[in-house]
Amino acid sequence: MNTVTRPRILVVGAGFAGVECVRRLERKLSPDEADVTLVTPFAYQLYLPLLPQVASGVLTPQSIAVSLRRSKKYRTRIIPGGAIGVDLKSKVCVIRTITDQIVDEPYDYIVLAPGSITRTFDIPGLTDHAFGMKTLAEAAYVRDHVIAQLDLADASQDPDERASRLQFVVVGGGYAGTETAACLQRLTHAAVKRYPRLDPGLIKWHLIDIAPKLMPELGEKLGSSAQEILRRRGIEISLGVSIAKAGPEEVTFTDGRVIPTRTLIWTAGVVASPLIATLGAETVKGRLAVAPEMNLPGGDGVFALGDSAAVPDLAKGDGAMCPPTAQHAQRQGRHVADNVIASLRGGPLKPYVHKDLGLVVDLGGTDAVSKPLGIELRGLPAQAVARGYHWSALRTNVAKTRVMTNWLLNAVAGDDFVRTGFQTRRAARLKDFEYTDAYLTPEQVQAHIEGAGRQG
Ligand SMILES: Cc1cc2nc3c(=O)[nH]c(=O)nc-3n(C[C@H](O)[C@H](O)[C@H](O)COP(=O)(O)OP(=O)(O)OC[C@H]3O[C@@H](n4cnc5c(N)ncnc54)[C@H](O)[C@@H]3O)c2cc1C
Repeated sequence: MNTVTRPRILVVGAGFAGVECVRRLERKLSPDEADVTLVTPFAYQLYLPLLPQVASGVLTPQSIAVSLRRSKKYRTRIIPGGAIGVDLKSKVCVIRTITDQIVDEPYDYIVLAPGSITRTFDIPGLTDHAFGMKTLAEAAYVRDHVIAQLDLADASQDPDERASRLQFVVVGGGYAGTETAACLQRLTHAAVKRYPRLDPGLIKWHLIDIAPKLMPELGEKLGSSAQEILRRRGIEISLGVSIAKAGPEEVTFTDGRVIPTRTLIWTAGVVASPLIATLGAETVKGRLAVAPEMNLPGGDGVFALGDSAAVPDLAKGDGAMCPPTAQHAQRQGRHVADNVIASLRGGPLKPYVHKDLGLVVDLGGTDAVSKPLGIELRGLPAQAVARGYHWSALRTNVAKTRVMTNWLLNAVAGDDFVRTGFQTRRAARLKDFEYTDAYLTPEQVQAHIEGAGRQG
């Protein structure tokens, strides 16, 4: 007989929002007040803003994979797997475990924080030939792939093959794409010292965006400074341009140019996790429409936050919604935990309000631009702020030490060109890394729950 009568809180996703929420619940709730369960496919919280530095090898993958099991105080039950559907009526979350078992997890309160996936468009060849920059495996794969292009170009006697292996295209002029292009360009530039047979003139990076500006959040002056830094380093920036077609050995731009390349990195925005669509609830641009208190209006015990939710941005007003940033996700995580606790104890829920603290953009080495609290910084001071901000935001001292040690080592010893070769013979693309086809439709969720009810 099941004798557990404590309310069950289920948190989906161990990212910035989910982990922050779970830690707060653990701190503020006594163990006999509620059971807390976390569903996550990975045993770490990924510090996404430093992903471009993993792709360029400045940081090792483990340094930004922050452990969920570092402290003895943690008491949350962790289910290793991904939620593939939620039935709001029966209050059950359907989970596919990492061993591919389907299990049903009933809840009293659910906190949805599954983040986002790479946004793609119906462009011929895109999903078959592009890499994203959204998961740890993707960053490690891209690193290997780029170094493989240097190795193969170095060994090749065919000038056409050399030329196509040494051109690289990044789509997306937000901070993810800009930092990725900047960090990887630095790596390939440094390669000239280690690959004496390579003609440095052949190495070329393209950064393109359909928008008229890179990172418009930076403002006119700072945005121009970032562009100037990248152009000085030889990155060709094309604005108002996207991809018309992608193939294994070339990419066609919408302005008609055909670029011979084997590397297309796609970072043109994000959309909410496909889990949100399984709820059959109202969405805003794919993100779950929630109240300023982050609860689902009319939903019993349902909360959502971070990249997967459309949380009204009360500090901005005018019907704005919070941008998908780590800064918001982390603060929303703490705030939603307080609101879950308030619901549990019968207290009032509070709306989420946070004024953006600014933006930091690490372009590698001493190149950076930042805008903390509206102050525009460039070069070393900007880099100090960027790295200081990320370093202090890492959750554990072990992660902090790993990152700092890696930065120091890279500053002293320079880049290395180790290709691990883990996936050499298997091309991996966007959906292989983001498991976008794992989810149920709302009808499948319902059929599954009804089927389970009949069996039970
Ligand atoms: C390359 C890059 C650079 C960035 N740089 C910055 C920056 O400089 N500053 C900034 O503020 N923001 C930055 N961002 C954005 C920031 O990382 C996101 O806004 C933030 O991670 C959102 O937090 P989240 O908790 O909603 O999602 P995430 O942190 O993505 O966490 C979601 C978690 O849910 C898990 N998950 C997914 N699906 C399921 C499922 N079905 N079931 C269970 N778990 C699931 C995922 O594995 C992940 O652990 C960057 C993003 C990228 C990709």
